[in-house]
Amino acid sequence: SISIGVLTSGGDAQGMNAAVRAVVRSALNLGVAVHAIFEGYQGMVDGGDRIRSLSWDDVGSILHRGGTIIGTARCPVFREREGRLAAARNLLRHGIDRLVVIGGDGSLTGANLFRQEWASLVAELVERGDIDELTAQRHSALMITGLVGSIDNDMVGTDMTIGADSALHRIVEAIDAITSTAASHQRTFVVEVMGRHCGYLALMSAIAGGADYVLIPESPPSENWEQEMCDLLRNGRAAGRRDSIVVVAEGACDNAGGPISSDRVRQVLQDRLGEDTRVTILGHVQRGGTPSAFDRCMSTLVGHAAVQELLSATPTSEPQMVGMRYNRVRQAPLMQCVEQTHAVARKIAEHDYAKAMELRGSSFTE
Ligand code: ADP
Repeated sequence: SISIGVLTSGGDAQGMNAAVRAVVRSALNLGVAVHAIFEGYQGMVDGGDRIRSLSWDDVGSILHRGGTIIGTARCPVFREREGRLAAARNLLRHGIDRLVVIGGDGSLTGANLFRQEWASLVAELVERGDIDELTAQRHSALMITGLVGSIDNDMVGTDMTIGADSALHRIVEAIDAITSTAASHQRTFVVEVMGRHCGYLALMSAIAGGADYVLIPESPPSENWEQEMCDLLRNGRAAGRRDSIVVVAEGACDNAGGPISSDRVRQVLQDRLGEDTRVTILGHVQRGGTPSAFDRCMSTLVGHAAVQELLSATPTSEPQMVGMRYNRVRQAPLMQCVEQTHAVARKIAEHDYAKAMELRGSSFTE
């Protein structure tokens, strides 16, 4: 009999619960047992009651909740072979050799490494007398399917990641709130949003929130951006605009690759416009709260598709990541997506923005 394990790992994101619920119920619907692994890879390494089989009702009333009810963690020992050996032993105790991993590029890289090492881990467990030959034969391969949980929307191969839409909603609500107080006092606000290598949240929230200026990592402003920004804001004021909002992604950089911090923007505005300027760093507010309708729907669809993909996987098939392309659920080779995501970050660091955007837009599905 087949048993699937599901875990959430790395940074939490709204919609993870909807994905877990969809994985559990899709599996049960197909007569497949499913175990939750609590606290990410840490629960896999620790075993015991951190690996529990789930019933239909166990995932009731979680669809609308933010975060992840099965917990997430960073787990340094999983980076070591010894940790992964313990994890393999604990999975085999429950007959689990198929995993749905919901996490960011780090978690998915770890899952792939685990998969590649699996045969040798199993052999070592037999040698140690931890498992018998029959168990080893039955579970000679580990199969994995990835779902991307990340509010940054920073993964190549999917148009949206789980949590990005909810985070965008949260930011737009915050910008709306700030706009009303800014307008009352005719103040200027600098709003810093998450996104180290990806300006999605900053760009989309600037459009949806009607901001005056936006700074993102992928498209550094022209050399004299400080003057340009100040002129824009000054003209806005002259035209009767009462509020001025500048959105800054945390990874924003200037033409020379130097970081543009929200405080630097504030200082420029204060010095050149002589206006009372405040910084609001939204921080973890962006991760919190209820998932948007879109995140609930998308997570449900990709969770369901992940189970189907995992059940059709074979020991030799390439692991897949399930996401969205052109508004359709699509799968793509997991490691190609992760590697290309890293390549995008490298190109941004090298200021080769055109290449970065070309790589980000590439698709492995057509
Ligand atoms: P994210 O999945 O959001 O990118 P991290 O990069 O922190 O978050 O990864 C989450 C966890 O995944 C780590 O704490 C570690 O247990 C595991 N992990 C990440 N990278 C690797 C790796 N290269 N090898 C093994 N495990 C890894």
